This record gives sequence, structure tokens and C-alpha cells, in this order.
Amino acid sequence: MADPSTKRPQSGYGWLGLALLTVLVMQLWFAQHATVTLDYSDFKVLLGSGLIANVEITEDTVEGTLTIPADPSQLPDAVKEQLQRAQHEKTVEFSTVRVDDPTLYQNLTAAKVHFGGARESKWLVMLLSWLAPAVIFAAVWFFFIGKLGARGAGDLIGVGKSKAKLFVQKNVGVRFSDVEGIDEAKAELMEVVQFLRDPNRYTKLGGHIPKGILIVGAPGTGKTLLAKAVAGEANVPFLLISGSEFVEMFVGVGAARVRDLFHQASELAPCIIFIDELDALGRARGVNGFSSHEEREQTLNQLLVEMDGFETNRGVIIMAATNRPEILDPALLRPGRFDRHVAIDRPDIRGREKILRLHAKRLVLGADVDLAMVAGKTPGTAGADLANIVNEAALHAAREGKSAVAMSDFDAAIDRAIAGLEKRGRVMNPKEKETVAYHEAGHALIAELRATTDKVSRVSIIPRGIGALGFTQQLPTEDRYLMKRGELLDRLDVLLGGRVAEELVFGEVSTGASNDLQRATDLVRHMVTQYGMTETLGPAVFETRTHGSYLNDAGLPVAREFSEETARQIDSQIQQLLLQAEARVRDTLAANRSALNALAQLLLTHETVEREALTKILHETQRSRPVPTTAERAAIA
Ligand code: ADP
Ligand code: ZN
Repeated sequence: MADPSTKRPQSGYGWLGLALLTVLVMQLWFAQHATVTLDYSDFKVLLGSGLIANVEITEDTVEGTLTIPADPSQLPDAVKEQLQRAQHEKTVEFSTVRVDDPTLYQNLTAAKVHFGGARESKWLVMLLSWLAPAVIFAAVWFFFIGKLGARGAGDLIGVGKSKAKLFVQKNVGVRFSDVEGIDEAKAELMEVVQFLRDPNRYTKLGGHIPKGILIVGAPGTGKTLLAKAVAGEANVPFLLISGSEFVEMFVGVGAARVRDLFHQASELAPCIIFIDELDALGRARGVNGFSSHEEREQTLNQLLVEMDGFETNRGVIIMAATNRPEILDPALLRPGRFDRHVAIDRPDIRGREKILRLHAKRLVLGADVDLAMVAGKTPGTAGADLANIVNEAALHAAREGKSAVAMSDFDAAIDRAIAGLEKRGRVMNPKEKETVAYHEAGHALIAELRATTDKVSRVSIIPRGIGALGFTQQLPTEDRYLMKRGELLDRLDVLLGGRVAEELVFGEVSTGASNDLQRATDLVRHMVTQYGMTETLGPAVFETRTHGSYLNDAGLPVAREFSEETARQIDSQIQQLLLQAEARVRDTLAANRSALNALAQLLLTHETVEREALTKILHETQRSRPVPTTAERAAIA
């Protein structure tokens, strides 16, 4: 996201200045009134030599003025040392502890010293000694509070008490036309735009508008841009704050900011609150992070409270972005909170071309520039990377003094960007791309060719989420509560399809299939130990689980209630089922090798293949099967 202005009010520094000034004044005051502390005996000596000018006697001190002689060497050593500070003075204040000395009055009278008594003005000293530290402490305190709070909003409108870097934009210039390559996400958010344009009309019809919308996607895929576009399309104010801004070192500060944010939003309604990096704030409770535990928990709780107490009818929509949805506190995702999720995938080749076109609009392009080709050379990049490539190309052309941006400039920019991205593991090289293409084609073909599996709606080799290299999306034809053994075996085949395809085509498997294997093994283990689906072991359950089953999420095994011998049998059954499945899948793929090749090639050129193209391939190689109806999704990575 773009960084809002960083101009800050200076009040924090003002307080620091005041504190320093106080210290300085006090130092000067003490220096001016430098006091020599004398031993009583030295005092008597000085009195004898007539150097004491006047004396004031209090209950327990003798204070007064000491005349510094022209030749200070006659002074006692202790006094000489102390006098170095007041070298150029003629006189200096002194003080000594009063001892019970009956001769003092006689000596004073003899020395013709003017003397008198004084009631102790201790209260003043006391007051000062208490007040000064208090003042300094207050100054330091206000300095830090000021520093924490003074994250101001530059040219944006004032943001009152919420001093976090809240960025309020009344007129967002961004429209849906500024966001390319993520049409599905745009379509999903169109409803929100309609609602914000006219909340009354919408609620009168009884429409249910989500309160919180979570946008999930890799960095730079345009999450912030999309949220802004919603605000721009609806022409409502956009309040942006980053999740990390909430969590401060003082407990309670973040919670206060949340309260404030919602208060401001209600005043600006209809509007959009956008919380970037929700994971920084909404990390699951109990996971220890960098900042204080309690503070983050309080802040998160406050957010939940505000969201619950907020009525969507008022026209405030809360949007949040994250690239790590898996670490979010589940409480955030419950109904009434961030219950609507919009996923933004990295753009495929056509999406990339569109994004490049959008950003290249303001450039003068040479005749040889082919943006489709640029898109082809940048698999795995996100919108922000592409915007960056366009910009780099322009800079490259400018450096070379060209009058238009040429293809060579784009190539240079791509090389630079890709080198950086490869280091961060964000783009694929051509060999990897081919491997992923065959892998996903394997999943997709098996899903199509098995009798009971959900049909494939889309296959892609563009990385989705974290860890997965591509994805095959299947649409369940109906809701499932029970599954038969054969259905589970078909599902197992789909999971193995990717790995077997790799092996068949390249003669070896890659690490990309490890998640598939994990899921295949889990499935088989459940078949053996939970569902009693083997003949050898019979209809028995061999593990006690805390909760759940394969169909509604696996729990953790707690205790083993069977013998070593049974354990060995379980292992061998699992292995056998997996090996049998592998052999089945290998046969199917080998028999449909031409379809596998065709689909992989199509994936390499288009990156994403929809059901239509897939059925066409199958049709050309053999008979195809009917199209699904329900729009429920299940993805197999
Ligand atoms: P995110 O919030 O997902 O990290 P941003 O929305 O901040 O990403 O995107 C950064 C910039 O990248 C945008 O301002 C825009 O210039 C460019 N960009 C990203 N995605 C797209 C897209 N889909 N279409 C056009 N430009 C995009
Ligand atoms: Zn896979």
C-alpha cells in the first residue's frame, strides 16, 4: 500500500525542550549560588583571619558570605578545592553544620561580623526538591506519549484522538477500472459498492450486507487497491489503518485506538474502514509475538467488541487484508465479523497483460513493444511487481536518452525484477513451470476420469496461497455427508494424480507433491483405522481421536489402544492401499497420455484452463462427462 504522509505535529519535541530548559535553569541557579561547604574548624579559622563577611545562624546550620582573599593560598585546602568553581568571584556563600559552640558569639563579635538568626525556610527547599523531579518526570512522560500519539495525518483531515497512522481519504480517485486481472474479486465486491451507494434502498429490500470482508492474497496483488476502488466506486470516505499501528508498547493504547477508529467511522458513514495487515493485530491469541501479549489481546478484543456492536445499516463496511489468513484468530472469522472472504490470486498471463497495459498507458511505447510477450516472461509476478517493471522500463529508457520505451528496456526491467523475485522464491523458472503444468494436469485428468469425483472447474499453474505451486479446483456436484469406500479411493487417486504424472513424464518426482502425499496418507489412515474399510483388520476403530473425522476435519490421536502387531498391520495396510492407488493412477494416466500432454501444454501457454477447454481436450481424446451444477468449491493443491 502507499504510505500516507509522514508529517507529524511537533508537540513531543516541545515537551522535551521544556524538560531540558528546566534542567538548564536549575543548573545555572545552583552554579550562581555556588556554596562552599566548610568544616566547622575551617570556619573558625576563617573567622579568625577575618574572612567571614556576614553570618546567618539557623537551628542547625551556620551560613553566610566568605570573602575570597587576593591570595587564596592561605585558605584551608578543602576550601581551596571548592573555590575553583568560583575563581573570579570576590565572595562566596558558605555553609557549615552548626555545632554546640558556646564561643561562637564571642568570636563573631570579636571579628565584628554582622550576624543574625533566621527561621529555616526549609519549605522552599523541600518544595523545590519535590517539584523539580516531578516536573522532569512529567516532561519525559508527555514526551513519550506525544511521540506515540503524534503520528499525524499530514495533508489529510484531522483525526482527533486516534493518533495512529490513520489515513482518511474523502475522495478516493481509484475506480474498478484501475484494477485489472482480478475480475472475480471485483464482481464479488460490486454488491458492497451498490450497498454503500444507497444503503437505505438496500436494507429496505432486506438485503444482508456483510459487516467485515477479508481480502486474502499474496503481497502486491492489489488488496489495498481493490479496497480503495470499492470506496472510489461508491464515492465514500476511505479510512485506512495498518494492523501493526494498533499494537503499541503500552497496554490499552491499541484498544483506545480501535474505539476511536470506529467512532470516527460512524461520523463519516457511509464509509469503508480498511485494516491492512490484519494478521499483525489478529494473530491467534496464545501465539507469542514480538509485542506485548496483553496489549495485542486487548486490542483484538476491542476490535471484536466494536465489530459486534456495529450495525451495518449505518453504512460502515470493514475491510481487511492479509496474506496469512491461517494465523488469524478464529474469533475474527466468525459470522458477523470477517465472515466474507475474497481471495485474490496472482494474475495469470492474460491478467498480467491487462495490468501491464494499464500501467503502460502513461508511457510512450516504441513500436516493438509487445506487452503480451512481457506477460509471458513474468509468470508468478503480482500486480505490484508488474507496475514496478513498467516503471523500471521507463527509467531504463530515460537513462539511455531514448524518446520511446523499447522492448529492450522491458527486457532489462524484467531481468532485474525477476532476479530479485527469484531470490524471494516468487517466480518460477521454465523448468519448474513445466513440472507444475504436468502435475496439475495429472490431478485434473484423474478428477475427470474417476466416476465419483467432483468435476474440475479450473486448473491453474499460478501459485495460489503459500506453499502450493498450482491448483486444481473442483466443484462438488452435491453436498456430502457420507462417503463410500469407492468414493474415498477415487479421491485418493486425485490426490496422487499430480505426483504420478510427474513421475510418468519426467521419470522422477519433485518436492512439490509433498502436501498431496500428506493428505493421501491421512485419508488412507482414516480408511484403515477409523472407517474399518479393510478386510484384514475388519470393522474396528484403532485410534481414539479427540474430535473429528476425515470428513469434518481431523483431530489429533490421543492414545494407542492396540498391540504392536496391529500397528504393523495398520502400517502395511496403509502402504498397500497407497501402492495400489498409485498403480491405478499410473494406468489411467498412461492410457490418457495424449490428453495429459495436451492439457499440460495448454497450461503452459495459458496458465489457467477453464472447464470448457478441459472438456474439449477430453472430448477430442475420448468421451467427456456432464457439467456440474452446485457452485461449492473444493481445491486440491
Ligand atoms: P497489496 O495491498 O495487495 O499488497 P497494493 O494494493 O498495495 O497491494 O498494490 C500495490 C500497487 O501495485 C498498486 O498501487 C498498483 O499500482 C499495483 N497493482 C497491484 N495489483 C494491481 C492490479 N490488479 N491491477 C493494477 N495495478 C495493480
Ligand atoms: Zn498437487
